Amino acid sequence: MNNNLANIKKSIFYLNKSECVAIPTETVYGLAANAYSSKAVRKIYALKKRPRNNPSIVHYSSLNRLEKDCELNKNFLILYKKLCPGPITFVLKLKKGSRISRIVTNNKTTVAVRFPKNKLTQKLLGLLKYPLAAPSANISTKISPVSKEDVKEEFGNKIKFILDGGRSTIGLESTIISLVDKPKILRLGGMQRSKINKVLNKIIKYDRNNKKITAPGQSKLHYSPGIPIKLNTTEPKHDEAFILIKKRKKSCKNYFYLSKTKNLKQAAKNLYRILRKIKKKNYKSIVVEKIPNFGFGEAINDRLKKASAK
Ligand code: AMP
Ligand code: MG
Repeated sequence: MNNNLANIKKSIFYLNKSECVAIPTETVYGLAANAYSSKAVRKIYALKKRPRNNPSIVHYSSLNRLEKDCELNKNFLILYKKLCPGPITFVLKLKKGSRISRIVTNNKTTVAVRFPKNKLTQKLLGLLKYPLAAPSANISTKISPVSKEDVKEEFGNKIKFILDGGRSTIGLESTIISLVDKPKILRLGGMQRSKINKVLNKIIKYDRNNKKITAPGQSKLHYSPGIPIKLNTTEPKHDEAFILIKKRKKSCKNYFYLSKTKNLKQAAKNLYRILRKIKKKNYKSIVVEKIPNFGFGEAINDRLKKASAK
C-alpha cells in the first residue's frame, strides 16, 4: 500500500472515532472532524480554544453530498462551476433535515462550505460518509499553519494525526462569500475578488463591517505572531524584523522578503511562513513595508492589520 493511501486510512480511522485530524488544503492546514457529530466538533473548539460563537467551514468533495445539507442557488452554481475546487467558501442556507452539527454553525440557519483542491484531502473526503468541519489548524488568534511542521508547532502531540500534503500552495485562508441574499464578500482571501466579479459579471461588495458573526467586545486580534506589528514603514530599527516585498540594494539580516519582485501572489504564499520564522528568531517587533492594496495585496493587508490589532 503506498504511503499516501496508508495515511488516508489512518485519518479515516481517527475521524470515525470522533477524533480530530489535521488535513492539508491549498489555503492553510485545517483541524478536521466529522461535521455531523457534535461530540467530534466540540474537540476542535477545545483544542483550538476557539470561541463557540465563531462558526466553522464545512469541507466537501462533491456537489451530491453538499445538496443533502444546503439549499443551492443560481449564483452558487455559477461560481461552483468556474471556481471549484478552489480557495472560495460559500455561505448558504441550511436545508431542513441537514445533519450538520449545530456546534459547527453556532445554531445559525446558514452554513459556510468549501471544496478544497488538495488531492489527498479530496480523496479522504470522498471515502468518508460525512463532510469535515475544519477551521485553520492553529490556536485561536495565532498564525495559520501552512505545513505539517507548523501544525506540530501549534498542537504538539495533542492531536491524533496530521495528514501530510506538503506546503499549502496558496498559503492564505479562503475568500468567503455569502450567497444567502445579495452576494457579498465576508472575508478577503486566496480567491481574488476580481475573479469572482468576472464570473458573476458584477461587482460584489466587501462587507468590511460584518459584525453579526463576532460577539460584541470580541478581540479584533487574529493571525497574530504575538509581537507588535507596524505597517507602512520605510526604514526599520536595527533590532526590528523588517518585512519587504521588493529587493533592496543593501540587505540586512533583519530583512525578510515576502517577494523580491513585488509579486503579490508569491507574497501571500510566504506571509504566514515568514511571520512564523520571525517569531522563532525572537524578534520583539515587526515593521512592514507598504504593500499595494489590490489583488492579493488586499488580503495581505487585511491579515497584517488584524495581526497588528491591539
Ligand atoms: P477559519 O476556518 O478559522 O478560517 O474561520 C472560518 C470563518 O468562516 C470564520 O471567519 C467564520 O466567521 C466564517 N463563517 C463560518 N460559518 C459562517 C456563516 N454561517 N456565516 C458567516 N460566516 C461564517
Ligand atoms: Mg482561522
